[in-house]
Amino acid sequence: MASKKIIILGSTGSIGLNALHVVEQMPERFRVLALTTHRQIDHLLQLAQRHRPALAVVTGAEPDGEQRNAFRALGVELRTGTEALAAICAELDYDLLVNAVVGAVGFTPTLTAVERGRSVALANKEAMVIGGALVTAAAAASGAEILPIDSEHSAIWQCLMGEEKTAVEEIILTGSGGPFRTWPAEDLVHVTVEQALKHPNWNMGRKITIDSATMMNKGLEIIEACWLFGLTEEKIRVVIHPQSIIHSMVAFRDGSIKAQLGLPDMRVPIQLAMTWPERCASAFPRLDFSTLDRLTFAPPDEAKFPALALARAAIRTGGSAPAVLNAANEAAVNLFLEERIGFLAIARLIDGALQAHSIDSALSAGALLEADHWARDHVTEAAAHLRR
Ligand code: NDP
Ligand code: MG
Repeated sequence: MASKKIIILGSTGSIGLNALHVVEQMPERFRVLALTTHRQIDHLLQLAQRHRPALAVVTGAEPDGEQRNAFRALGVELRTGTEALAAICAELDYDLLVNAVVGAVGFTPTLTAVERGRSVALANKEAMVIGGALVTAAAAASGAEILPIDSEHSAIWQCLMGEEKTAVEEIILTGSGGPFRTWPAEDLVHVTVEQALKHPNWNMGRKITIDSATMMNKGLEIIEACWLFGLTEEKIRVVIHPQSIIHSMVAFRDGSIKAQLGLPDMRVPIQLAMTWPERCASAFPRLDFSTLDRLTFAPPDEAKFPALALARAAIRTGGSAPAVLNAANEAAVNLFLEERIGFLAIARLIDGALQAHSIDSALSAGALLEADHWARDHVTEAAAHLRR
């Protein structure tokens, strides 16, 4: 069996490290060509020592002389800067891009890989939110496969295997409801960064953890699902399922519903995306029905979590609106993490940006990135005038 040559963008993050864990479990199946980090250069060096990629990229810091020498001694070419992410996706000869960076920065590398007909194991949902139309059109033209890592989308993908798209009635996207599911709406004004960073079921990067607390994560996932599965947003229902055992479901026109279950362990969907079209054995912990108490479900509280309606409105509007939603969210989440705005201001700032934006329906990658920059500036400006 020939090994798959892979690039992992965001290899020092939660998804990236789990992808490397999968590689370590089945080293004969993968050859790591390139790894990247934003700022954790020494961590990247450790990963490079272990996996011996040809290339390493640092996007958000300047390596010092000692660090450069260490990469050189390993025979690893070191590149710096955000542009290097798309450049390596354009230049290297790889079979699979594992895109595990966080944020809009993941869009251009995804598009580059897909245009070249390379498969993408996609964790970076922001890429699909910004430019799902371009990415899916490029994939259709080149034959590239987009293999979802996001657990809900992996679940839906698995439920759809062997099914006709015309037989789908709706998709049921499950969500834990985040740390504030049971909080009274009026208490959310007091939420601290520390409280918002405590997710009940998943251990993830900071940005997606805040997105889970505002439920914008589920909003972004609605848009991601629209593009990955070719459906409109009305066909995607959100159901709160606090135990995170059912990762999502598909309802079919004959009244049958398929669900995909498992422990909340991202290594399962990561491994499936990486080994696809094979489903390989794993030693990850198993779901034990003898200790499983109960599975519960409830509709989301859309008044308490306005992010859901904002995301639905953005994808219905189309054009540059989802790119604005995403960028405004990234900017607002950063401001919240820096304790410069309150928790409820996140959704308010996104709403403000969507309202102030004049929609561009042109949809070129350049136009989408311009809308992204506009939204970040708009949020920074608007936040300066906000009182907490
Ligand atoms: P992390 O914050 O843990 O990791 C992000 C990775 O990207 C790190 O390697 C980080 O480098 C790098 N990075 C951060 N900012 C930039 C930047 N501006 N430019 C280039 N690289 C950058 O995030 P997660 O692993 O949690 O999430 C990654 C993606 O996967 C997100 O899109 C998220 O929504 C999605 N996802 C995550 C899930 C999870 O369970 N974690 C579940 C489903 C989807 P450094 O280490 O230096 O910060
Ligand atoms: Mg998810």
